[in-house]
Amino acid sequence: MSSALLNSKDIKAQALSLGFANCGFAKAEPVAESFAKRFRHWLELGLYGEMDYLERNVEMRLKPDLLVPGVKTIVSLAMNFMPENHQSGISLYAQGQDYHDVMRSRMTQLMQECGLEGRCFVDTAPVLERYWAWRSGIGVLTQSGLVSVPGYGPTVFLGELFLTQEADHYDAPLPDSLPEEEGWTKLCPALTPEGLDARLCLSYQTIEHRGPLSEEIQLKRTFYGCDRCMRATPQFAESKPTEEAAFQPSEALLKMTPNDWEELTEEQYRSLFKGSAVKRAKYDGLKRNIERWLKSRESKS
Ligand code: SF4
Repeated sequence: MSSALLNSKDIKAQALSLGFANCGFAKAEPVAESFAKRFRHWLELGLYGEMDYLERNVEMRLKPDLLVPGVKTIVSLAMNFMPENHQSGISLYAQGQDYHDVMRSRMTQLMQECGLEGRCFVDTAPVLERYWAWRSGIGVLTQSGLVSVPGYGPTVFLGELFLTQEADHYDAPLPDSLPEEEGWTKLCPALTPEGLDARLCLSYQTIEHRGPLSEEIQLKRTFYGCDRCMRATPQFAESKPTEEAAFQPSEALLKMTPNDWEELTEEQYRSLFKGSAVKRAKYDGLKRNIERWLKSRESKS
């Protein structure tokens, strides 16, 4: 293992040249107590719904060296996903190829090109990614709990490198990067003073929840995910189309009409969503959502 300090300036420049919107460095210290306390309280209240995996490895989520022994530096990376056009039934982030694959491959490239030692994570390990994005100064936390990157808004994917090397410079959180407490809970019942109540969140219900949707759930805008609070944050005005071809929807997806969705076969589903994050909902889950979406749209008129 090399003992030279990582040149943060060079690594950031390389990250930007690989298409990342921002890159920041944080020391791999335990998560700040105020955040850890809030996270534990959120878990105690059961606001995570059926996402039981969040209850496991809590200490690992709060102490990076339990996840990667010897970790010294956490590099946060953001990539713009805002598509040029979109299919309105599907959340903006899921219009193109699965971000896990795109981000992981680009992060692996960055590690190889810069001789970085450690591991990379994209939403698949016990990592408080929004905390690290805030801590490493790549963005501000919005009132709905998203991370907004200056110049790109909240339409960004996040990833982290847990490196066993020390860096020559560490970033501080951006000024005013914590949201004001007031106002945001009025937008949606899922936004509570204690944090997001996943059980009431349409994004969670349409993607993570298995089994029938409860009768009260109305899907008037989208049938996969929900962009309402993201679009409502003032920083959404900063979002601009990505140059990343992988995050653009296919022509076939753009052409789908409500009638086509109603008749979606499993074969069409496989072809439309090959390599897409939408597959997380599975065919049956997507059909369940589409059915409710069509019903909710009818009741709107
Ligand atoms: S994603 Fe939609 S349902 Fe979930 S908190 Fe935001 S506005 Fe509410």
